[in-house]
Amino acid sequence: MKFDIETLFRAIDDKREELVSLTQELVRIPTINPPGECYQDCARYIGERLEKRGFTIEYVRATGAIGDSDRYPRTNVIARWEGAASGPTVHFNSHIDVVEVGAGWSFDPFAAEIHDGKIYGRGTCDMKGGLATSIIAVEAHIEQCPSLAGSLEISGTADEESGGYGGVAYLAERGYFSKPRVDHVIIPEPLNKDRICLGHRGVWWAELITSGRMAHGSMPFLGDCAVRHMGAVIDAFENKLFPQLRQKHTTMPVVPDGAKESTLNINSLHGGQGEGFDGLPAPLVPDSCRMVIDRRFLIEEDLAEVKAEVEKILVDLKSERPNFNYELRDLFEVVPSMTAQDAPVVQAVEQGIKQVLQRNPEFVVSPGTYDQKHIDRIGQLHDCIAYGPGILELAHQSDEYVVIDDMVDAAKVMASASYNLLGGAQA
Ligand SMILES: [Zn+2]
Repeated sequence: MKFDIETLFRAIDDKREELVSLTQELVRIPTINPPGECYQDCARYIGERLEKRGFTIEYVRATGAIGDSDRYPRTNVIARWEGAASGPTVHFNSHIDVVEVGAGWSFDPFAAEIHDGKIYGRGTCDMKGGLATSIIAVEAHIEQCPSLAGSLEISGTADEESGGYGGVAYLAERGYFSKPRVDHVIIPEPLNKDRICLGHRGVWWAELITSGRMAHGSMPFLGDCAVRHMGAVIDAFENKLFPQLRQKHTTMPVVPDGAKESTLNINSLHGGQGEGFDGLPAPLVPDSCRMVIDRRFLIEEDLAEVKAEVEKILVDLKSERPNFNYELRDLFEVVPSMTAQDAPVVQAVEQGIKQVLQRNPEFVVSPGTYDQKHIDRIGQLHDCIAYGPGILELAHQSDEYVVIDDMVDAAKVMASASYNLLGGAQA
């Protein structure tokens, strides 16, 4: 008998209340990162639920990863369900950490209250709503097609908000995101229910230090002001680098539009005496000034070129400006990632969106990075996208929420995609 996808969609409609309560339970575990609170509680909650439904559960602590300690263990959970016959594996990966609460909330950020069809709270949108959605989608798929050929995996991983080194990167280094274990990966980050996120731009973070010579502040001519040297750097950025970056446009479908150009953010700047002391400062010419830059680059650019542009500005300044001394140090780098539009996971989710929402998906690329970088680079698995409910712009904001109807629709899209990827086959 031919399986009817509508049966699977009805099963998801029937699980609406369960989807809501699962999201609420997850939001009520305050997994704030940093420092990485309650990871173990959240991982166990997911593992215990899925174990009851026939999944094999593994807890992997990223021992020795940045931030891991007995007080704040980086606990990850990986749940695997094996079908009746062998076949490909579809993996849904969600990060379990949320960012700090911040000010400006009208609701208790960890109560997961419902108002007007929305669940409010820190992590509802980014991304416990997406995690709950993928769990419900996979459970419905398994219940409706118990003899399917292939495997389904769900992971809840640590530290995405701080780079993913205690989460997906750690697991990818140990083969959890590579063939033959896994074939297709969907990351339910909040990109909106009708958008497929193919990847992200590249990142280069660097620290720039200019140095000078200390002197009494009443006789600055006896010293050499490191902040003025940095001022010259900022001038050169304004007059040369920023105009140059605005000329660079990508063919990647990056959203929002402003991120289709290369960008640079001056993340922080400090020179002279430390901040935060009480009373009056001492009169000193600053002998050091530090800037952190956050450069986001396009798939058409090369990381070495990106660095060379900044170096050139500094080298030119050194030849123009007496006593201009600097140090430039790399802090973090990620190359751009973009999954092909004809990749199987993209096509499966595209088909799901057409079936559920009766419209064509929008293909997008994220302005910032997420855990796909580790799956792509370390796991060497290129059939990976982000797809999930939630409005991207609400992530990390106060009064963050996820719309319940959007979660139900996205669960249908996910179930349809996993059904399509596993050949829709019953063993
Ligand atoms: Zn996220």
